[in-house]
Amino acid sequence: MTTCPKCNAKCNPLKFFMVSKWSPYVCKRCKTKSDFPLKQIIILGLVIGLLFGILSYQLSKLIGGFSIIVTVIFILILIPLIQYYFMDLEKVDD
Ligand SMILES: [Zn+2]
Repeated sequence: MTTCPKCNAKCNPLKFFMVSKWSPYVCKRCKTKSDFPLKQIIILGLVIGLLFGILSYQLSKLIGGFSIIVTVIFILILIPLIQYYFMDLEKVDD
């Protein structure tokens, strides 16, 4: 589970949507700024891209045109879960 790199407080995965180099995650306990390492972001992007391709293709056979919408919703729920369970924040230097 993703924790603050400084004080080890548990992070709020709902805030991960906003996390980037330009708007880092801010710990609510110690106010430390952090973001995800580029390598992990690239792997996440590859996994999500692959999942998107497989899911939208498989779903399109079942539900046709709605498959893109369902896949996007699924991916949007999945991204913070992957970040929460498999990714680590690292401290950002001001
Ligand atoms: Zn903290």
